[in-house]
Amino acid sequence: MERWARIKTTVLDVVGDTPMVWLQRVGTPGGARIALKLESFNPGGSIKDRIALALIQDAAHSGRLLPGGTIVEATAGNTGIALAMAAAVLGYRSIFVVPDKMSPEKVGILKAYGAEVRVVADKPRSDPDNYQNIARKLAQSLPGGCYMGQFERQANPEAHFLSTGPEIWKDTGGNVAAVIAGAGTGGTITGIARYLKSQDATIQVIGADPEGSILSGGSYHPFKIEGMGEDYIPETLDIGLVDRWIPVSDDDAFAMARRLAREEGILAGGSTGAMVVVAQMVAQELSSDQLVVAVAPDTGRNYLNSIFSETP
Ligand code: PMP
Repeated sequence: MERWARIKTTVLDVVGDTPMVWLQRVGTPGGARIALKLESFNPGGSIKDRIALALIQDAAHSGRLLPGGTIVEATAGNTGIALAMAAAVLGYRSIFVVPDKMSPEKVGILKAYGAEVRVVADKPRSDPDNYQNIARKLAQSLPGGCYMGQFERQANPEAHFLSTGPEIWKDTGGNVAAVIAGAGTGGTITGIARYLKSQDATIQVIGADPEGSILSGGSYHPFKIEGMGEDYIPETLDIGLVDRWIPVSDDDAFAMARRLAREEGILAGGSTGAMVVVAQMVAQELSSDQLVVAVAPDTGRNYLNSIFSETP
């Protein structure tokens, strides 16, 4: 009915078109201005809502996921939440394999959406008991099981090429000097870079990387920042599109997440803290009439018992 035309069909119709907000206090005096793209405005609370429907449609169209089937995925949380939400809307069962460093808040949210959760020890990918390897085997052993494969399916970066990248371009009028993102699967940074560089090849795309991840050139060791940093290069990351990677320590990222809440009123996660640390460094290299956009992948509500229970 025409008079109810603005009411959306399901929550999946309100994914994307997230706002960008200037940082007012956490800035770099004399340097470029910094705006944060707040992905917590998505209905599932993170940037991963953008890839959930794309992964499901890809699996359904290729015949890997049948009606009434079971979605299985390896996730540090947010992809699981996004898939669990979409599974609830579309009528699929869902099971998620998560590393034990994942916050209890995220496990609770998965269960709230009706998903099953298997928590496993956080192991490198070369280990057969790594969460991705366990999830793949679980999907094979389950009748109707389908491994969603966010680390290999090109539907992941493509979702960001089709939405996140164009939104940044549109909301800045193309006047953006640098974009900061992280890489878990690399879908976000790859899709954004592919789109923005197709519009203007001079836009810099810079990766914020947890210390301990190999992307910024160091050797692997475990770190506490959730959702990004890698011990290998996933198929969904086109490393050639990233101009450079800057490492950030857990402590610096978490301290920045706390500052964002207290000084900007922006309650975001640890990966957002890392993006902003890098955004400050990059802003220093640019002038005050330029813009740095940093992606804020999720909400601090996921980390009340960790990042926000520490008092410094
Ligand atoms: N930060 C957080 C909190 C995340 O959940 C993710 C997704 N894994 C990322 C950053 C990185 O996004 P991507 O997988 O698209 O590289």
